[in-house]
Amino acid sequence: MSETKRLFNFSAGPAVLPVPVLEKAQKDLLCLPGAGASVMEISHRSKEFEPIIQGAGTNIRKLLNIPDSYDVLFVQGGALLQFAMIPMNLLTGKTADYVVTGSWSKKALSEAKLLGNTRTIWDGNDTGYRRKPSDDELKIADDSAYVYICSNETIEGVQYQVFPNTNTIPLVCDASSDIFCRPIDVTKFGLIYACAQKNLGPAGVTVIIIRRDLLERSAHNIPSLLNYKKISEAASMLNTPPCFAIYIVKLVTDWLLNDIGGLDKMHAINKEKAALIYSVIDESNGYYKTHADKKFRSIMNIPFRLPSDELDKKFLNDAKNIGLMTLAGHRSVGGLRASIYNAMPREGVVTLRDFMLDFAKNNPNNRLG
Ligand SMILES: *Cc1c(COP(=O)(O)O)cnc(C)c1O
Repeated sequence: MSETKRLFNFSAGPAVLPVPVLEKAQKDLLCLPGAGASVMEISHRSKEFEPIIQGAGTNIRKLLNIPDSYDVLFVQGGALLQFAMIPMNLLTGKTADYVVTGSWSKKALSEAKLLGNTRTIWDGNDTGYRRKPSDDELKIADDSAYVYICSNETIEGVQYQVFPNTNTIPLVCDASSDIFCRPIDVTKFGLIYACAQKNLGPAGVTVIIIRRDLLERSAHNIPSLLNYKKISEAASMLNTPPCFAIYIVKLVTDWLLNDIGGLDKMHAINKEKAALIYSVIDESNGYYKTHADKKFRSIMNIPFRLPSDELDKKFLNDAKNIGLMTLAGHRSVGGLRASIYNAMPREGVVTLRDFMLDFAKNNPNNRLG
């Protein structure tokens, strides 16, 4: 295989980007039209960069139909920094309720514990993080600061189909691995955030959608760069933002709006792609097994296993040989995982599906005899 051939990349993150986005970035890499230099070499306060950061914000608003009562912020520090900024800004001395549905919400809880009072109102650990709770399993306190969820657990492949109803308590959501995979009703949330490197762009920028009244919770003594209110007042430019990452987010959201045609269309494409893989798994007589309960299966990340560790290993190796890359499961859980984000072409999913069918046929499970 040629050293420079692009393969089908099933990485969970940083992950595949749309080819038209990379081509556009490549075309304008040396000189952003009219700027005399690349987007990495001009002031973030220049008239050439301004439409990029504003355009990214406008695109995000259009895609998710975000009302004026919400602000869209760009920050650095990845999702992990939000694990801290959320309690720092929103707790205000109260207690927050955490719903632990997998590795990422568990990590978010452990970071929040460093900063204030939390309660775990549901934990799927005992059942191996295979599902999301129903509303009647969640005992949300009347004076809770917020309810924290992760919409799609990237490692376990468990995704909310219906978001919890938290009434007047703000719902805070880590949507890092499924933002823009489908339309959502933003008004059900107090805050939604996503690091870019799964479904949005390159690592280095995190998008935050926050209801404006929540900005008033940010205390004056929170350092500026960690302070939602100050970031909002400075239109995400307290200091130099990650210009190149924001530029790619602008191109990815242009692609979603203009090439794909919006999130309803993206959702239909994603459902069909995921079904191609899940149907092989379901029709394999137990040869392939997924992790999540059927009702909570993710359309973005599909962790699966074969009948033995040896077959997992052989699968990974054979897949690599035909150009299907990064199918290993997360190092904490092992097995395999196919991440099929928005930018994964259908052709890549079909190639994986066909490979899975062939592999099962050619490598029978001897233990089942
Ligand atoms: C990848 C991921 C994170 C961690 O993101 P970083 O930007 O590396 O901090 C957190 N939550 C979810 C759901 C993720 O998929």
